[in-house]
Amino acid sequence: MTSLPTTIQDVFNEPGCARNASKSKVERKNGCTKQLKPGGAAGGCAFDGAKVALQPFTDVAHLVHGPIACEGNSWDNRGSVSSGSDLWRRSFTTDMSETDIVFGGEKRLYRAVKEITEKYNPQAIFVYQTCVPAMIGDDIDMVCKAASAKFGKPVIPINSPGFVGSKNLGNKLAGEALLEHVIGTGEPDYTTSYDINIIGEYNLSGELWQIKPLLDELGIRILSCISGDGKYREVAYSHRAKAAMMVCSRAMINVARKMRQRYGIPFFEGSFYGIEDTSDSLRQIARMLIESGAPAELMERTQALIAREETKAWAAIERFKPRFAGKRVVLITGGVKSWSMVAALQEAGLEIVGTSVKKSTKKDKERIKELMGQDAHMIEDMSPREIYKMLKDAKADIMLSGGKSQFVALKAAMPWLDINQERCHAYMGYVGILKLMEEIEKALYNPIWDQLRQAAPWDEFDRNLQARTAAQMHAQAPDPVRDPSRNGVRTISFSNQAEVSEGESAIAAHGPKLAEPNKPCTSSSGRCIACKDIPSDLQPPALQAAE
Ligand code: SF4
Repeated sequence: MTSLPTTIQDVFNEPGCARNASKSKVERKNGCTKQLKPGGAAGGCAFDGAKVALQPFTDVAHLVHGPIACEGNSWDNRGSVSSGSDLWRRSFTTDMSETDIVFGGEKRLYRAVKEITEKYNPQAIFVYQTCVPAMIGDDIDMVCKAASAKFGKPVIPINSPGFVGSKNLGNKLAGEALLEHVIGTGEPDYTTSYDINIIGEYNLSGELWQIKPLLDELGIRILSCISGDGKYREVAYSHRAKAAMMVCSRAMINVARKMRQRYGIPFFEGSFYGIEDTSDSLRQIARMLIESGAPAELMERTQALIAREETKAWAAIERFKPRFAGKRVVLITGGVKSWSMVAALQEAGLEIVGTSVKKSTKKDKERIKELMGQDAHMIEDMSPREIYKMLKDAKADIMLSGGKSQFVALKAAMPWLDINQERCHAYMGYVGILKLMEEIEKALYNPIWDQLRQAAPWDEFDRNLQARTAAQMHAQAPDPVRDPSRNGVRTISFSNQAEVSEGESAIAAHGPKLAEPNKPCTSSSGRCIACKDIPSDLQPPALQAAE
């Protein structure tokens, strides 16, 4: 069993990662995690990354070994859906307490595995390591091995405690756990020349099911999807696939590359977002399968299907083009979506004013340049304040991003659409692009934005009140400077600051003693000494009445 530091170094040495390949040996050793600035949001931890990558396996019990907050942090934060078991959405944790920290949590973990086996009898149990048990030295590998032998089912340690690094590192450590403990441990009932793996696809809002009917029609079988709507047994025999498509490069490149190395499964990186990218990916799958031994007629059938679906899709998005004319989009996402979404949006006539490339590879950036030109605005690392300014200055009409950035757009009173993992709609394939256009149209033309940009009713009331008060003041106290009869000198106002400043010339001429208090005279004897020299038309009404 490989130790955690060795696995991490191995992941950092990933030759399939273009960014990593461009680093020196020393830089590579330091890994990919950036030092956080004080006050900066860290994003998810490595445990969170591992959980988010594997939780879409539907018939597996996901047991988090640690204090309850770790499970609370990670549970159900990806909108994947299942066609069968709902076990993956149950929340299992060892809920470690102070006593476990003193005496160790291994026994507690063993008992939790036993309880899950007895109550749910899942296909497998994935045990996630977190910071606290890792720091006190709980050996989850050993516990999983013992529990697996005792209960006769796979109990897989996912060794990715939060402190080892970023969410992305956690994605890769999850992939390493699959490679070490799951892939290659089973055999399918039969194999065909049309078997493929899809890696890094999470079936968010069921979008894999917008692609599956197309593959079914071509006779192509998804032998295993890692991990959307995935089943444990399918991953175990995924090494028998003839080709693989990698959907999110940053997350699981190590899985695709090592499966090519170990089992000779070729892979390509593709996207099912947008009409043209969907067609390209289908062609690539057909081409790879043919190269691996599938009949050549597969390509003809694929081309025919693409022609039919493209005709329908292009016709359907035509109606959005006048609605989107001149509309500008800023795209704050990452990885493959930084370019695949660009292509999809451009197809509907939207202008992309910037796309974030913080989590994108060199290859992703090249694709962006191909689509948006050499001067493409690639946002490396934009702070929320800068995004807000960009939206507020009306440099974009809508922002497409993940849920974490939504409040920036809402604060700027700009339309926003979720395109990341928490989204509620499926945007993949020829059907998905239409759904995406519909949602963008709804967001852009939602009447709420006009209302939000108007002043609040109470602000309006305040402004009116101020205007009325100022008008009253001016009516009561003529301008002493401009009124020649008063010569800007002798007239002293009872009202507030405005008149005090206007009377500056008078004060300059006669000294500050001419300035009067703002409150009306309250002398019970009629006129006090201070009021005596003041012209009667400027005196408060109470005093005039007394006179
Ligand atoms: S950083 Fe550690 S303690 Fe926090 S959620 Fe991640 S694993 Fe748990």
